Amino acid sequence: MTFWVYEHRAAEKNAVVHIGSCGHCNDGYGCQRNRRGEENGRWHGPFSTSAAATKAAQATGCPTRQHGCTKVMRVRPAARA
Ligand SMILES: [Zn+2]
Repeated sequence: MTFWVYEHRAAEKNAVVHIGSCGHCNDGYGCQRNRRGEENGRWHGPFSTSAAATKAAQATGCPTRQHGCTKVMRVRPAARA
């Protein structure tokens, strides 16, 4: 599983963490309807952990949030090695 950060550069600036399989992310390609280069934002990633992605999101200096797709993981208890 990979994690990505979408940094919005439009009017509302923020950085959102997604997982690669999210329909909005598509492993960094974004959704096809909104493929307009990096005009409105850009993807950062991939990251191997949620923590790394969150750190990168915070590094943009924008308000950071987790997209709903990342909560799918949190429902499960952390894997116990
Ligand atoms: Zn998402």
